[in-house]
Amino acid sequence: MFDFPGDECYNKRIDDINQKGTTMKLRKIAAVSAAALMLTGCAAQEPHSLEIYAMNTLMSLTAYGDNAEEALNAISGRMNELEQELSVTIPDSDISHVNSADGQPLQICSDAQTIISRALEISRETDGALDITIYPVVRAWGFTTGEHRVPSPDELAELLSRTGYESVELSGGSVTLPAGYEIDLGALAKGYAGDCAAGILREYNVSSGILNLGGNVCAIGSKPDGSPWKIAVADPDDSMQYLGIITAQDEFVVTSGKYERCFTADDGKTYHHIIDPATGYPSENGVSAVTIVGKSGIECDALSTAMLVSGEERACDFWREHGGFEMLLVTDDGRVLLTPGLAERFTSKTARDVITISN
Ligand code: ADP
Ligand code: MG
Repeated sequence: MFDFPGDECYNKRIDDINQKGTTMKLRKIAAVSAAALMLTGCAAQEPHSLEIYAMNTLMSLTAYGDNAEEALNAISGRMNELEQELSVTIPDSDISHVNSADGQPLQICSDAQTIISRALEISRETDGALDITIYPVVRAWGFTTGEHRVPSPDELAELLSRTGYESVELSGGSVTLPAGYEIDLGALAKGYAGDCAAGILREYNVSSGILNLGGNVCAIGSKPDGSPWKIAVADPDDSMQYLGIITAQDEFVVTSGKYERCFTADDGKTYHHIIDPATGYPSENGVSAVTIVGKSGIECDALSTAMLVSGEERACDFWREHGGFEMLLVTDDGRVLLTPGLAERFTSKTARDVITISN
């Protein structure tokens, strides 16, 4: 997603981005519908911007006002701290310690407690579409190592026998996994990081900003001129193009898509990084991307992953039953489905059918 003030700026912004040194990363960000770049057309408050690489993603942070620079530096420190605590690929992180605890309880930091607790709740609510214990399967596909491969059905069956969120015990600040189980908070950690970043901006009395944490966009307040932020949603079939624009104020806009982090195997098929815990295979249910809009970053992130796995019918039913968030769902057959609250603030830029989900 990009924030941009109007159509006329869109192509120019992309060109500008590609002329910077970090073309590849930024291209990826564009491709994953992520970078929230803002142009305000308002000279009243100077923007302060910072780009950092943390939690396996390029983060673009922009804030306005007197304390903006200090606030962004504080966010940068906090993002690095979260990475050290939560990364599955950092051997000394709390999560790596949990994953090698071999059935023993392990005391974890309060950030990890909060995320695991919320993950388990959402797993229950989504019938396991979100499942942080899916990590051994994700790793077998090579999504964490970059060594992509298609595991055999037997291998997947064995790995799946060591998954299941119901077996995770969280109590008194400790987590216990059955021996052989491993967890990965990648499906919702960036959303939690967004909540933390938004909290830091509030502490510093920064009331306008836009943060892009790799597909998790956090709109702080409104633009300095008082108008809402505009977040562009990428087209999953051509992620340099846009389906449309969502207006957002004090909200998160989080997208998960099949077009992100995928590979084409020798069998000619393309496999992506969001796994259906019921099968061990990348989810293939007719939904190619899901964008969730809401007040909680961790919830938006968790739900964007879970609704992609759930598929159209279950995702719409989940929204009808639970509410509290808005959703945009793109189907493989070319439709764009929107919850009614989002339909009011979505400007379509696509030739696809745009359909409002019934209540
Ligand atoms: P991204 O991290 O690319 O923004 P998501 O938020 O959708 O995308 O998270 C996907 C990541 O979560 C995967 O890379 C993997 O590590 C992990 N994951 C994949 N499938 C699931 C699942 N069904 N439940 C929980 N985590 C998952
Ligand atoms: Mg997610």
